[in-house]
Parts: sequence; structure tokens; C-alpha cells
Amino acid sequence: MSLSVDLKDLDVLTSNAKQIQDDVLKEILTLNANTEYLQRFLHGSFDKDLFKKNVPVVSYDDVKPYIERVANGEPSDVISGGPITRFLRSSGTTGGKEKIFPINDKYIETLGYLTALSSLVTSKHFNDKDAKKGKKMMFLYNKSESTTPSGLLVALASTSIVMSPYFTNRPSKCNSDFTSPDQVILCPDNNQSVYCHLLCGLSRRDEVVGVGSSFAYALVQAINVLQIYWKELSSNIRSGHVSKWITDLNCRNSVSAILGGPNTELADVIEKECSNKSWEGIISRLWPKAKYFECIITGQMAQYIPTLEFYSNKLPIVSTIYGSSESLFGVNVDPLSKPQDVSYTFLPNISYFEFLPVDHGGDMASIVDLVDVKLGCYYEPVITNYFGLHRYLIGDILEVTGFYNSTPQFRFVRRKNMVLSVEIEETTEEDILKASALATLVLDQSTNLMLTGFTCYADISTFPGHYVFYWELKTKDVNYVVELDVNVLAECCYALEESFDVFYRKLRSKDGLIGALEIRVVQEGTFDSLMEYFISQGGSIGQYKTPMCIKSSEALAVLENKVLARFYSKKFPPLDL
Ligand code: AMP
Repeated sequence: MSLSVDLKDLDVLTSNAKQIQDDVLKEILTLNANTEYLQRFLHGSFDKDLFKKNVPVVSYDDVKPYIERVANGEPSDVISGGPITRFLRSSGTTGGKEKIFPINDKYIETLGYLTALSSLVTSKHFNDKDAKKGKKMMFLYNKSESTTPSGLLVALASTSIVMSPYFTNRPSKCNSDFTSPDQVILCPDNNQSVYCHLLCGLSRRDEVVGVGSSFAYALVQAINVLQIYWKELSSNIRSGHVSKWITDLNCRNSVSAILGGPNTELADVIEKECSNKSWEGIISRLWPKAKYFECIITGQMAQYIPTLEFYSNKLPIVSTIYGSSESLFGVNVDPLSKPQDVSYTFLPNISYFEFLPVDHGGDMASIVDLVDVKLGCYYEPVITNYFGLHRYLIGDILEVTGFYNSTPQFRFVRRKNMVLSVEIEETTEEDILKASALATLVLDQSTNLMLTGFTCYADISTFPGHYVFYWELKTKDVNYVVELDVNVLAECCYALEESFDVFYRKLRSKDGLIGALEIRVVQEGTFDSLMEYFISQGGSIGQYKTPMCIKSSEALAVLENKVLARFYSKKFPPLDL
């Protein structure tokens, strides 16, 4: 993949998807034909029809023994014809268990390329003089890497990219400059780096044209940190000295240079804006030239749309790319589309992509190629990459929403296995998001509260079992105390139940097999604690995705320890709507 990025690439790639996909498969099979894994099925052949007939569609447990053998020191060609030089750790917050995937520099290059392409598409849409000159305040993070028993690096994708020469030597024309120096991004202590990101962003407030992170949660977390530390940040700017607790020397020195000395005028502006009793639009007030947020806001991140809109007076949120540790997929070529309408255009030169229809009913022959998917249909991607995964099920469900030239575009619908279920009903991430949006409308109309984080689980420890939602609430005006109105929260419970499908409503209202839905309101800061718990298990702020449904008992314990009050639905949801 070429390192230089040009918008014309998009047209070339998407106009020749079929040919490019066939070439990619041929290249991968030629490279991997003699691996122990593929030999079993193809006996050295790299014929596409034989590949489709003989190579099984697999999940992580099927390939785990091969991956582990390479991690433990056996040669790469157990699974991959190309060299395996490191492993990516998937964040583990999406589907529960942590997984590692073999890669080499080609993956990092593709990630750098995709990010740069997405940045180019965005800047083309915000194409004015300021945007060209300006900087992005990007909340990017590093996280210390570990090694396999054979000494190969294991790291998250977000860390691998910032640690790579591709990032250090990035061509500035592809990525408008960042407000933070690389030393802040590379600082291994994320508490110090988020503080320094804010300090640099505030110091350069007049240059900031965009505010971003990989996933939306990191932005919400940065706003929380700003709310806690704004007095200290403005005092650093007033004095020109960085707080003593910023002990990482590279970080400290580079940020001191950006402060450049005392700045009373700027400190006054920050104090005036932050001491305002309402924080509505704080991002646009502190960074008046900021024109957009840039982060992934689809899927699990959609719960943060209202929060980001509130703090920015509805700046557009550009949802950038779609990818995973197994493979990268594509970019959003229409950055101004509303978060709910975002689709990603797959790039056919990244991996060989096949698609299993959601309603396949066990018929694996129903798998289709990238260019053969049908508009409006739902599929799970099956990928064959350059690093040893062959016909691997990703676990995401996507809907085909259109075509860009001859290449399909997909809306991210949900994780496949993330469902709530007490009986036979299946309430998906998409159902939960839709219901939560309706419940927050009730909250919005009747209170001064906003929902800043939620997750849920199916409690089947009692009969009948019931759904439990954990809600973290904040007042829209700072320094006000959250007051909980029993009737309003009971109405919110009802709004959630009313939105679920007819199976749920029947089991709840007619059969009595599901109990009243419960909202447990948790203390402020609980969802940051949940993130810290997941980070202690190997995650990172940069790649953190708040799980929409909780499965781990340890994570549930983090939430349970912070419950302030419980509310139940007082009515049965209607059977017919
Ligand atoms: P990880 O391997 O830890 O990076 O997690 C990859 C998973 O994150 C994907 O399989 C998706 O479930 C989710 N993900 C990544 N990008 C997006 C996106 N643009 N929209 C929604 N979900 C995403």
C-alpha cells in the first residue's frame, strides 16, 4: 500500500472493487499456500473456487491454537507466509474475552493510510482558510506494550500506530497538525497525557479547528477531566509553569515550551468560561474556531452523541473509520452525515472480504463476495487477511446502505453476541440504543439532568428475571445536586420497555416471565471507574468502548458498589403499539 495519500485513490479503488478483491485473494493465497494451516485445506493450491469450497469459516477458538504456537516461538509459517513481527491485542471490552492477532508492519501502514485518508476527506469538507492552517486537539494515547513468550510485541492497535515510524514521520499534509507534541501522545501515563493534551489545547485555543480521539468515549472522558482540573489548568497558563505532578520529563519539557511563559489574558478567558454555571457549549466557547469533532461515534459509541452535542452546541461529529484488530475495513466518505446515518465504504485492497447473511440458517454456501452484497441486507463480515486469518468471522453485524462507485457501503448495526435475554427474547445493542434515546427524551423533558453513561445486564438471579440499566446522571448546570424524581425515573423505565419488541412486551405484560425493568442510578464518575477497571485488564483509553451489555461479574461489581438508588417501571408495556 502506497504511503502517500491522495483523494483520487478512493475513486480508483472503489471503481475496481471486484478485480482488486480477486487480486488480493490471489496474493494472500500465494503468500500463504505453504503454511501449515492452509496446506490442510488447499494442499498448496491458490485457486479461488477451491478456497471457497475447502477453507472453513472460523471463529477465534478455531485459530487460537495456531496463533498461540507462533506467540510461543514457532515460526510464522504455521499460519502466515509473511513474517509475523508483532501481535495486536483486541480491546476485549466489546465482546468480553481478550484476543491477540498476528500482524506485521503492513497493518500499521494500512491504519496510518486509512486515518490519513479519512483526515483528507474531512478537511476537504471543512475547506476554509482556518481549517487549512489550524490544528486538531487530538486525545491520542500510548499504553505500555507487553511481549509474548517468544519476545514478540503485543499491543493495542491505537498504541501500535503511535509507536510506529509511520506516525513519527507522518506527512503533515495528510494530518493537519495536532495541538499536542508527540511527547504528550507517547507519555505512558494516561492521566498525565490527558492533562497535558488539555493544557496544550487551551494554550493554542485560537488555532484549534477540530477536536478528536479514536473513539468518542475518550472525548467525554477528557471533558470530565477538564471539569475537574480547569482551575489548575488555567493557573498553569497564568504562571507559565506546568503542575509538579507532571513528572514525565519529555512531556513536561515539551508542554512548557508550548506554554512559553505566563499568559494572564488567556487564563482569565478560561476562568470566565469555565466558572459559568452552565457548561452547555463549553467546547465551542473555549475553542471558538473548532468546527467539528472527529471520532468513531457509531455502534457502542452512539450513547455519547447527546453528551458531545450538549458540550459543543451541536458541532458536527465526524465518524472516521471502521476497523478492528483482525482487519481494517473502510472510511466514512461523507463526514457531514448525521451519526445515525453514517456508513463506511470498504476499501477493497485491505483484505479479502466475504459476507455471511445474518439469516443464513446454517447455509455457509450463502456467503457472498464484497461486490455481491445486496442493498438493505444484513451481513457479518468474514475476512481473509495477509497475516494468517482465513475466512474469519468478525462478530459485527452490518447493513448495506449504498454503493460508492462499485464498492458497497455499510452501516454498523451491532455486535453479534451482545444481546440481553431473560427468556426467549433477544434485545440487541441496536434495540437498546433506540430505547435509551427515547428514555432520555423523557428525562430531558422533565428534568435538568443528562445521561452521561449507561450499560445494562439481564438479571436472572431472581424469578422472573428482569433487565437492569445502570445510569450515570449529571445536572446540566455545574454545582447543582442531582435530584432524582421517582415518577420521572419510573417513566424512563417504562419508555425503555415500551420501545422493546413484541416478544419482550408479551413476556413482560402477558406471560409474567420478565419482571419490571429497573434503572439503577450510579454515582458520578462510575463510568470512569468502569473504564479504569477495563484498562487494568489490558485496555486503553484510546481504544476503550463502554460495553453496552455487561457480562463480567467483576465489571458488574464495579457498578454495584456505586449504586445510589433504584427505580422500577410501574406499568406494563402495551402489547400492541
Ligand atoms: P478492537 O479489535 O478492540 O479494535 O475492536 C474492534 C471492534 O470495535 C469492531 O469489531 C467493532 O465492533 C468496533 N468498532 C470499530 N470501529 C467501529 C466503528 N466505526 N463503528 C462501530 N464500531 C466499531
